[in-house]
Amino acid sequence: MHIVIIGNGITGVTCARFIRKLSDTHQITLISAESKYFFSRTALMYIYMGHLTLKHTQPYENWFWAKNRIDLLQAYVSAVDTTNKSLQLDNGQTIAYDKLVIATGSKSNKFGWKGQDLAGVQGLYNLQDLQQLEKNSQNAQHAVIVGGGLIGIELAEMLVTRNIGVTLLAREQLFWDNVLPKEEAQLVSNHIKEHHIDLRLSTELKEVVPDENGRAKAVITNKGDAIPCQIVGLTAGVSPNISFLENSNIETARGVLVNHYLETNIPDVYAAGDCAQFSEPLAGRRPIEQVWYTGQRQGATVAYNICGQKQPYNPRLWFNSAKFLDIEYQTYGMVWNKLQEGEDQFYWEHPNGRICLKIVFDKKTQQVKGLNNFGFRMRHDVCEQWLLEKQDLAYFMTHLRAANFDPEFFEAHEPNIIKAYNQQFPNNKVQLKAKKSLMKTIFNY
Ligand SMILES: Cc1cc2nc3c(=O)[nH]c(=O)nc-3n(C[C@H](O)[C@H](O)[C@H](O)COP(=O)(O)OP(=O)(O)OC[C@H]3O[C@@H](n4cnc5c(N)ncnc54)[C@H](O)[C@@H]3O)c2cc1C
Repeated sequence: MHIVIIGNGITGVTCARFIRKLSDTHQITLISAESKYFFSRTALMYIYMGHLTLKHTQPYENWFWAKNRIDLLQAYVSAVDTTNKSLQLDNGQTIAYDKLVIATGSKSNKFGWKGQDLAGVQGLYNLQDLQQLEKNSQNAQHAVIVGGGLIGIELAEMLVTRNIGVTLLAREQLFWDNVLPKEEAQLVSNHIKEHHIDLRLSTELKEVVPDENGRAKAVITNKGDAIPCQIVGLTAGVSPNISFLENSNIETARGVLVNHYLETNIPDVYAAGDCAQFSEPLAGRRPIEQVWYTGQRQGATVAYNICGQKQPYNPRLWFNSAKFLDIEYQTYGMVWNKLQEGEDQFYWEHPNGRICLKIVFDKKTQQVKGLNNFGFRMRHDVCEQWLLEKQDLAYFMTHLRAANFDPEFFEAHEPNIIKAYNQQFPNNKVQLKAKKSLMKTIFNY
């Protein structure tokens, strides 16, 4: 059986690896337009900042693919013919498949702004964008970034390291407050300003103005301000990269529509990762999941389904992590930007305004639904275990030390967190468990 996977990002690569683990005989072809070898997209910023080379971001040695008989093909798939089970490549080649996996990821959003295609205007998604950014950075003094999300803040940090001034436009009232609750969004907004980034909230791009050579020379905002710049970064979200599927009979909405087995409406065609959209979203989850680890899990699920071990996608607990300049962020379980009905919260913030913990719980049962931590690290396995065990707020508080994942000799925040908790919940006071007894609880020593 010939299995063709379009897209060699984390989703496609995980799918290929798992198919090979499950079957020694299937022929696997992995096609991607971006690069021959898989690299970590999440590390793109570190290449620009000089911390890593592209080679450092490739988790597998080049010999890995031939050794595991995964054929790599660098080409763009321009059309899919589901009747004849074949793909049309932009180099004129046609490829036949028995099973097809669409794992084509996302592309940067453009909303039809005047001047959005001028030289100097670009997104930040792929290696080609990174190369473009290198060129655009030459002699640039100022950049305007449009869109206050995770990629926007990464782009801002990258440019700042090259001494390029940055104005960041966000249409929200606080940075990323369509995802983050108000307190956390405020904390991040303050931190961005501390880095001398000109954060303009409740502000949108109206148009990009060209110079006499057709390069971007300024941005006009919806408030009528003109901001001179040589780079315009478009980071107002991403959307599924699926335009090549037009006329393929594969059903799409924003993404490729799939059921819980990641099957499309066409037999033998699957979709997974950033480009897939669940026709019926899983309980409490979004229909399109655009993060690294969900792509990984979806890719593995498709492999099992193709290899005859049929199973629905099990996303486990929602988790994400990112970095806002110097502040690391992790989220476990569901913390919405506004409390949902029946929910209450505990919030603690360090006086330095860069560290905080938010725990959301069910008002009636006290069961913890999710948590956000900024500026200090929590242990993934411990947080996940407690949430899956449906532990309550008092349990989390009592055992907080066991969840700490900061390096040795870092400031311990737990005593202050407990103090704040006992003030906020005087009828439900707790005491921190000592480290020794915690080891017993968690590791059974
Ligand atoms: C700058 C940046 C930072 C990020 N940081 C984080 C983070 O910290 N944590 C996190 O969880 N997520 C992060 N993400 C999101 C994460 O990288 C994506 O969710 C993940 O890469 C999606 O994986 P994928 O395999 O589904 O798609 P992709 O990684 O997008 O891979 C799809 C591949 O398919 C190729 N392709 C598309 N169409 C075709 C075609 N027609 N023919 C041939 N090839 C095609 C593309 O060129 C691409 O190489 C970040 C994303 C970016 C851009």
